[in-house]
Order: sequence, then structure tokens, then C-alpha cells
Amino acid sequence: MQTLRFGDKGLYVRYLQAALLRAGEEPGSIDGIFGRRTERALTGFQNRFGLRTDGVAGRLTRAALYPFLTGAAVSILREGETVNDLADRFGTTPGRIRTANPSAAWTKGEQIVVPLGFDVVFTDVPYSAFLTACVLEGLTLRYPYLVRFPIGASVTGKRIEAVRIGAGPLRVGVNAAHHANEWITTPLVLLFLERYLSALSDKTEIGGVPAKGLFETSTLTLVPLVNPDGVDLVTGALPEGDSYYESARALSAFYPSIPFPDGWKANVSGIDLNLGYPAGWENARAIKFANGFTRPGPRDYVGTRPLEAPENRAMYELTVADRYDRAIAYHTQGCEIYWEYRGNAPKGARALAERFAEVSGYAVSDVPYDSGFAGYKDWVIGTLGGKGFTIEAGRGSNPLLIGNLQELYAQNEPLLVEALRDT
Ligand SMILES: [Zn+2]
Repeated sequence: MQTLRFGDKGLYVRYLQAALLRAGEEPGSIDGIFGRRTERALTGFQNRFGLRTDGVAGRLTRAALYPFLTGAAVSILREGETVNDLADRFGTTPGRIRTANPSAAWTKGEQIVVPLGFDVVFTDVPYSAFLTACVLEGLTLRYPYLVRFPIGASVTGKRIEAVRIGAGPLRVGVNAAHHANEWITTPLVLLFLERYLSALSDKTEIGGVPAKGLFETSTLTLVPLVNPDGVDLVTGALPEGDSYYESARALSAFYPSIPFPDGWKANVSGIDLNLGYPAGWENARAIKFANGFTRPGPRDYVGTRPLEAPENRAMYELTVADRYDRAIAYHTQGCEIYWEYRGNAPKGARALAERFAEVSGYAVSDVPYDSGFAGYKDWVIGTLGGKGFTIEAGRGSNPLLIGNLQELYAQNEPLLVEALRDT
């Protein structure tokens, strides 16, 4: 995030407004326009936090706002201060603080993580690599048993991250946002992660099932953002004028019928990441070339060889190492579930797809021939022999707006619970 001031516009202004709102200020609507209301809210925040009240989000102000992006503050324990005192001071609960500090000795001068009194996952702003990292940082601080690790880097060098939760033998892999303009799948899976973690720490249920049971049955590995550059291009985190933005725009000029950047699915080099896996890749190439996708662009270009894109190699290596029993790749849209590759699937895959359909209201579908090769699911089924699924969440045209998130979540929470149950 850079310095923001009156008159600025864009995604980072939305993040500033969302953080101010969480901090108890009133920036007005989260519209990405830094107007007088946002400025007043920022001045109010600066005043409360002992910062220079200039209404500009400079370095120190942004540092003070950061806990409102991650949902976790760090506090040095004062003389005689108790967990209850801390909870009162930060407007949160003693239980949340204890969860975040399982090995604290509660002595003066100790660093204590304080989960703030709101949920971490944003449901009111478009996502980006930056926001995803904030959320993962906050969730890892608040729930120390969540393991976070890098699996690779994107074309522009952004970290691609995974998180892991669970102690059970059923290995489940879930990923989101292979396709840039399907970025709403990132908050979709992050929202599930937070509800699951919260239910675990509260010893309650998620989707009617005790979270502890899911934890003991399964190990979930989640990659919430496979294509960080592409998502940043679509949501505006990568600004006009940036060299990657401009090179993508130049590529899109060869596909004038596809809107830019809204129609962008590929990575920032113009390779469609769901056509990059070694499973019938030559067939995918032949089909897509015949349809005119012969050069890098917003979608449907397969690259010069399988696994050419670093994002595909990251997913490949993780998946080969993890050997999932069940792997789910989230896309939008169509409310459909795909479960086969070339008419084949492991035993039990169809039954599981039907359970997913029953709980989500989605349809179990046959893959159209033209999109039946070189996708993540295709490779999981065809090469690794695991159960692989593509879930096409939601309806509408891409990119779906963040306002659709709650509906998508309601459909997919029970599906993901089902994925973690060994039934
Ligand atoms: Zn897709």
C-alpha cells in the first residue's frame, strides 16, 4: 500500500475505507473514492491513535491501520494486566486472546497477539494478492495451529501461498482463482477457512457438523489465490501504467472482442492457467488453436508447453507432494460440478459429486469436449488417479461482484464440509 490522500481513487482507497470502518470511523460507502468523508474519518483515526492529523495515509498511519486489515494487533503486556483487561482495552473476548496465545506466560513485557473484535475475512471489497496476504497473516496470528507456507511465485514475483489445517488421514486440496476474473472464489474459500477455524476454537459446528470431527478426519490444504497477478490486474491492484498492466493490455489488443481487464482469465503473461497441466495438453492446444487462441491473451491460450507458467508449476509440485484423495478447483460460474476426465474417474467420485450437488443445489455435469483437457481437475484424475472436481460457483457474468459472496458462501459451505467428511 502506498501513501493515499484526498482525491485518490482505486482499490487501495477501498481498503483504507474498509480498515477505517473496522476501526470505528465513518468513511461513508466503501467506494474507492478518497473524498472529504474519508478524509474526516482518517483524521479522526489519527487523532485517536496519537498520529499527526493531516488526513493523509502516510507510512505511520498505514502502520497503525494495518491491524484493521489483518484483524490482529500485537500488544506488550503491562504490569498487572490480565487477559480480561486486554480484552476490554481492545474490544474483544478473553477466549479469542487465549486461542491466539496458547503458550503465553502472561508476564509483564510479553508480546501478546490480540484478535480484534471483528472477523478477518473482508466481504465488502474486491480481492488482491495484498489483501489475501493480510487475511492469511491475520488468520495465522489468531489461530496458531493454522500452518501457512509459500508454494511458489507468480510471473511478477508475488508469493503463492498455501495454508494447512487438520490432523486426519483424508487429504483434501482446495484451490481458488486459477482464473483471474473469477477472483470471488478467493474470499469464498477464505470465508470457509475462517468459519472452520472459528468453530474449531469455539468447539462448535460448521454446516451442522462438529468442527473437531472434521479436523480429526481430514487434512485440508488450501491455496486461496493461484493467480495473484491476474487477479491484481482485474481488480485494479495492478495500476494502469504499470509495465505488467500495459503488456497485458497490449496482448489483449489481439482479442478485441474480450473486454479488458474484466474478461481477463489468464496469468499476466497471457497463459490460461487452467490449460497448463500435463493431461491431454496437446488436445487442448489443438482445440484452442482451432478456435483462434493462438497467442498469449486474456484466456484460452495454452502456452508453448505444459507447466510453462510458474503458477502451474507451483500447483503441480504441491499436488504431487500432497497426493490428495480429493481435490477441488473453484471457478465461477454456472452452478455446476465436473468430476470426470475423458469419461473416467476413480471409484466413488460420481457419488461424491452427487453429494456435493445435493448439499449445494448445483448440478452434476458432463464436461463439454472443448474444455475437457489440461485443467487442474483433468490432471488430478488422469495422471494422479485422485478424485478431482471443478466447482463452477454462482451465476452471472464474470467477474461476479463481491455482493454475490454471501449467496455463494451459503451454497458452498455445506459442499466444503462434505469434502472434509469421510463418508
Ligand atoms: Zn474458470
